[in-house]
Amino acid sequence: MRVKPQRWCGMWDVLPDAARSIVKELIIHGPQSRTALARTLRLSTGSLTRLTKPMVDAGLLVEGDVVHDPVNGRPTRPLDVAAGEHRFFGVKLTADRVHAVITDLRAQIVAARDEPIPDHAPQAVCRQVRRLLDELSGGEEAPVGAGVTLGGDARSAAQLGGERLVDSSYLGWRQVPLKSLLEEALGVPCVIKNDVAALSHQHHWFGAARGLRDFALVSIGAGVGYALVVHDHLVPAAESDLGMFAHLVLNGGGPMCGEGHRGCASAYLASESIVTAARQGLRRPVTYEEVMRLAADGDKVCLGVVGEAADALGRLIAQVATYSMVKTVIVAGEGVELARVAKDGLDRALSANRRGRPDSVDVLIEVDDFREWARGGAVVAIQSFVTGSD
Ligand SMILES: [Zn+2]
Repeated sequence: MRVKPQRWCGMWDVLPDAARSIVKELIIHGPQSRTALARTLRLSTGSLTRLTKPMVDAGLLVEGDVVHDPVNGRPTRPLDVAAGEHRFFGVKLTADRVHAVITDLRAQIVAARDEPIPDHAPQAVCRQVRRLLDELSGGEEAPVGAGVTLGGDARSAAQLGGERLVDSSYLGWRQVPLKSLLEEALGVPCVIKNDVAALSHQHHWFGAARGLRDFALVSIGAGVGYALVVHDHLVPAAESDLGMFAHLVLNGGGPMCGEGHRGCASAYLASESIVTAARQGLRRPVTYEEVMRLAADGDKVCLGVVGEAADALGRLIAQVATYSMVKTVIVAGEGVELARVAKDGLDRALSANRRGRPDSVDVLIEVDDFREWARGGAVVAIQSFVTGSD
């Protein structure tokens, strides 16, 4: 079934920046009275009314039921975005699977699916993503935009006609014009982003870091990822920067990673490293989930492996907080169960590397659901739509 085009996207292109700020404020912080909005955004109530009227008329903003204004006590009808009326499409590509979600304007998931990637050719993947969009949309209106995230450098140094090309070692892609290919396949504007960067945007607008100007995010799973938000902006990172982080040496005498470093972050924290260490001790094949379960049940081998990894994670978080001076570090990714199973060990290592003050940094452990990665894709599409840039 083919999706129908959206009715009001055209108006968005001509909206002034002040109008975009209003939508952003409402999306992130929820419904507000016109007086409260005007005060937050430093606009006169006259300007606010002038800016919001066309958006209310077009159905992008809605007025709620009458309440008493918290600022001046008068009856008022708070403004909100019509979040449920607008759809965004988010996709995360891994080496072997595609995860896709449809969300509303506040990044709430309304439909989700994941499946293997049978053919890694870029055009074939784009066709697969299009089919997923059609299936998840169920014949409803087309999404306003799509965001696709993937590991590594989502923007190669090379350009073609102004488009940044995509390299992905996971997918075996070199200099792929992914944005053009996807826009042709999907028929809506597409944003391409590094997956960890997208996850940090998600937490910044809709998750644990909402309202924070500064925070860091460490992701653990197939690889070790990092994102840093300072003064409300994500610090740009190239693949080489992220590689430096993933292979930061935490203990010179530790286990060896696939690149031959002893005791680097990946050697302790990448899923493959943990599974390999547990397999050696147990003398049988084992999955990451099983290692976590066995550790939680008190198995000595798995407790040892998980304990060492948690100690490394505590050190890594301490270093992140110390060098960047952020007070909040989010731990996310599909391997995050490790931080829960061995939270005590993590806290001990954090404390030992923070002058005995583990509470000097707020460590937030997030859910380990692959849909969160795809949701990050929807979030960068939402942000691109609202701010007018990608
Ligand atoms: Zn390494």
